[in-house]
Amino acid sequence: DRVLIGNKVSEGHVNFIIAYNMLTGIRVAVSRCSGIMKPLTMSDFHFNKKLAFDYHGNELTPSSQYAFKFKDYSPEVFRELRSMFGLDPADYLVSLTSKYILSELNSPGKSGSFFYYSRDYKYIIKTIHHSEHIHLRKHLKEYYDHIKKNPNTLICQFYGLHRVKMPISFQNKIKHRKIYFIVMNNLFPPHLDIHRTYDLKGSTWGRRTIIDQKQFQQNDNTYRPVLKDLNWLDLKETIKFGPLKKTKFLNQLQNDIVLLTKLNIMDYSLLIGIHDLNKDELISDNEDEYEDNNEEEEIQVAVDAIIQTHNNIEPHHDNVSNISPLDGSAASDGINLNEILKRHDVEQSVKKRPIRGYEVSTVVSHFFKDYEGGIRSSDTFNQDGQYIYYIGLIDCLTNYSIVKKLETFWRSLNHNRKLVSAIPSKDYGERLYEFVENSLETKTSFEPYLDNPNVR
Ligand code: ATP
Ligand code: CA
Ligand code: CA
Repeated sequence: DRVLIGNKVSEGHVNFIIAYNMLTGIRVAVSRCSGIMKPLTMSDFHFNKKLAFDYHGNELTPSSQYAFKFKDYSPEVFRELRSMFGLDPADYLVSLTSKYILSELNSPGKSGSFFYYSRDYKYIIKTIHHSEHIHLRKHLKEYYDHIKKNPNTLICQFYGLHRVKMPISFQNKIKHRKIYFIVMNNLFPPHLDIHRTYDLKGSTWGRRTIIDQKQFQQNDNTYRPVLKDLNWLDLKETIKFGPLKKTKFLNQLQNDIVLLTKLNIMDYSLLIGIHDLNKDELISDNEDEYEDNNEEEEIQVAVDAIIQTHNNIEPHHDNVSNISPLDGSAASDGINLNEILKRHDVEQSVKKRPIRGYEVSTVVSHFFKDYEGGIRSSDTFNQDGQYIYYIGLIDCLTNYSIVKKLETFWRSLNHNRKLVSAIPSKDYGERLYEFVENSLETKTSFEPYLDNPNVR
C-alpha cells in the first residue's frame, strides 16, 4: 500500500514481453485510426478492431519482435474521449511509445491487477479482470454521455480499452492468455511531490494503513504510504474548500456517484493526493532516471509513431512520409531526426485544426486546472490556500456481483452493515458521499464579511 515510483520494465524483466506487446499494439492501433473524425454513431460503441502481429509483419501491422494478437475496443469512441480530455494525438503516442517507457508498480492491489506508468508518468496502464472489461464495454455510452455533460467529472479518465492475446508458458505448458487493460490518467502530476495520499471508501472496516510514525513525521519523500479512511480520521484530515468550491465539488461528486450507482458499481474510491505548498520542492525530472537509454533509438520510435500518424491523417504529405521509419539515420532529404521532431512540433500546432474532421471541444474545465491540474484550497472568501488537492474516483469498474452479495451476507451476520465494505451500490455511494461531505471544512459564518479586506 504505497505510492511507488515503480520498477523500470526493460528487456529481461518478467513482464517485459507483455508490456512490449501492449505498447506496440497501442501504438499501431492508435495511429491507424481513420484520418477524419466523424460524429460517432451507435455502431462505433460496439466496433472492435483486431490486429495480428508477428516477426514478419504485413500490410496492416509492422514487424514485431514477438507474435501476439491485439484487440482495440471502440477505437473511435476512445479517440473522441481523448480529444475531449484535451490530449494531443501525437503526444499520446510519444508518451506510450518508447519500448523502455513503462515502470511497474511494485505492489499490485488485492485484485491482482498490474499497474504500469508511461515513461513520462502521465498515463497509467492497468490490467483489468474480464468482468471489468465487460462492464466498461456495456456502459461505454453512458460513460461517454456523462463525460460530455460533466466537464468537471471526478471519474477516472479512460483513454483506451484493449486486449493482448499471447502465448505464456505456465507449468511447462504454453497457454494463450488474454490480458485486458485500460489506459487512464495519472491523477497526480509527475513533477510535484504529493505529501499525503488517501484512498477513501467511506468505510471504516479494516480501512487503516499501518504507518511508520517516525518516518511519516519526518516527511521523507521516499516514504509515501497510501492512507485510508481511518488514517484520515486519525489525522483529523479535512478538505479545505471555501463555500464556492465546496458546493461545486459536492455537486459534482454527487452527479458522479449517481452514475456509478445507476451502473451498479461499487468498491470504488475517492483518491486524494495533497500537495502542501509550504513543503514545496520540485522533484527532479523523472526522465533523468532513464539517462542510460539510447537516445537515438528513443527518438526513432517516436518519429516512427508520428510518421504513422501523419500517414494516416494526411496521406499526401510528402516531406514526412518520405522518411523511412526503419532507417534510423535520416530522411531522404538529409535532415536529422531531431529536426524532424522539431518540425513536427511546429507543424502539429498549425495542422491541429484541419486534421479534425469536426470539432470536438475539450471538456476539461478550469475548475480542476486551478494549480497544475489540481484544486487549490481556499478560505471562506475563496482566497487561495496552502494545499493543492488532486482528486478522482478510481477503480470504477467493479459490478456489485454475486461474489459481493455473498460477502455482504457473511459479514452482515457479525457486523453493522454500514461499516462493512461490500454493500449494494446505492448504500455504497451514499456512504462515500457522506464521508466526504463530513470531511469538508466548513467555515460558514456570515459575520466575517465585515473583516474581509476584499469586500469593502
Ligand atoms: P483493489 O481492487 O484491491 O482495491 P486494484 O488493483 O483494483 O485494487 P486500484 O484500487 O485501482 O487497484 O488502485 C490501487 C492504487 O493505485 C490506488 O490506491 C492508488 O494509490 C493507485 N492508483 C490507481 N489509479 C490511479 C490513478 N488514476 N492515478 C494515480 N494513482 C492511481
Ligand atoms: Ca481499489
Ligand atoms: Ca479493484
